[in-house]
Amino acid sequence: MKKIAVVGTGYVGLVTGTCFAETGNNVICVDIDEKKVNKMRNGEVPIFEPHLDVLFERNIRDNRLTFTTNLDDAIKDAEIIFLALPTPPGENGSADLSYVLGVAEELGKKIKNYKVIVDKSTVPVGTADKVRAAVAKHATVDFDIVSNPEFLREGFAVDDFLKPDRVVIGASSDRARNVMRELYKPFVRQGNPILFMDEKSAELTKYAANSFLATKITFMNEIANFCEIVGADVDDVRIGIGSDSRIGKRFLFPGIGFGGSCFPKDVQALVKSGKEVGHDFQIIDAVLKVNDKQKSRLIDKVENYFGDLKGKKLTIWGLAFKPDTDDIREAPALFMIDALLSKGATVIGYDPEAMENVKEIYGDKISFAKNQYEALQDADALLIATEWSAFRTPDFDRIKSSLKQPLIFDGRNLFDLDEMLNKGFYYESIGRKTILP
Ligand code: NAD
Repeated sequence: MKKIAVVGTGYVGLVTGTCFAETGNNVICVDIDEKKVNKMRNGEVPIFEPHLDVLFERNIRDNRLTFTTNLDDAIKDAEIIFLALPTPPGENGSADLSYVLGVAEELGKKIKNYKVIVDKSTVPVGTADKVRAAVAKHATVDFDIVSNPEFLREGFAVDDFLKPDRVVIGASSDRARNVMRELYKPFVRQGNPILFMDEKSAELTKYAANSFLATKITFMNEIANFCEIVGADVDDVRIGIGSDSRIGKRFLFPGIGFGGSCFPKDVQALVKSGKEVGHDFQIIDAVLKVNDKQKSRLIDKVENYFGDLKGKKLTIWGLAFKPDTDDIREAPALFMIDALLSKGATVIGYDPEAMENVKEIYGDKISFAKNQYEALQDADALLIATEWSAFRTPDFDRIKSSLKQPLIFDGRNLFDLDEMLNKGFYYESIGRKTILP
């Protein structure tokens, strides 16, 4: 059993804290957001993440997981302190380290005995040194800094954390390495590796992984756009190339661009890090440009169809940046909403989990429906932005009878072209031929 403090209780911090509690550790999570902390103290999970609620309840009940707004209380007895703080894009696109370095400096003033301070936030190469310097400014006791980037995926966060493909630990002291090895032992029983390396390599591993994945998606989006011009079918091409084990089947689905709180900011931050040392990241710079264009792909199709969107009533299914999360940061759907509103259209949105978060941004500028079918009532077309499972096999007759005309613009390629033809829809998707009724 280890005593752990987790600073920052967002998507990463809360999952980290809960999963470490689940393996028998004693975890105190600290956050500056009082409302959030009160919610958690009342047993409410502040985010939607599959399977988190069961672990959350169990570990609170068994007194292994507690919450506070007081950093002193959280770290007093902790041997390990995790930083799971935001690293949003700063003014020029580089990662804003003020949260991480601010807390690091606080920790320097507060620690009274040896601590392992672990950075779980996604941070540029060289941050561990900055964190070390920030802590050292005031610290009077020994401490170690570890870089332990997190690879969990929202929507699968608990599973990913409990059974990681790999754990990356950047550390330069044996003492810290041993603490981390013991802590992660229960999570790698199937034999997945704990990879020890220096801090800089660990920091870069995270950026390189996200940039590679963003590149893979973007590559497929470009192939999809080309398919539309030359009359090929991207689904066939996707399966054709994905069957090659060097390429792999995953992350090859074309769509309306990547979003979320990680890929856009991490890719941009890596480009910036490169610029700072005179390195020109040409491939991932292009990825950002192509992705920006891809985000307007579906709206372009809708506009081409209608000509003028003024006064059109359009339904969007899916507002979260991907299924199984309520996270809407950089969600393609928000980009679509902005574009549609600016062109004079009316928007009705539906999402199984993310509507409250979208309401906070748009208020009554758009309307929301209780379910996916109510959202379609008298709308001019259905636009699909997120591939929630509930959208995959819908009641097509109901869609048809609810819409003014049977028009679907699908940014996630959810439906079979043959089925759309049989059901009599006009159907546009990404990288496949348009179905005419
Ligand atoms: P988040 O915004 O969901 O959570 C951050 C939390 O930190 C918030 O609850 C905020 O109130 C709190 N906070 C801010 N300042 C604080 C302070 N001074 N003291 C205590 N708490 C404070 O962010 P997230 O999505 O969990 O991401 C955290 C980090 O992990 C980022 O660097 C991100 O890039 C990285 N990451 C995120 C994911 C993901 O899927 N979300 C995956 C891997 C890595």
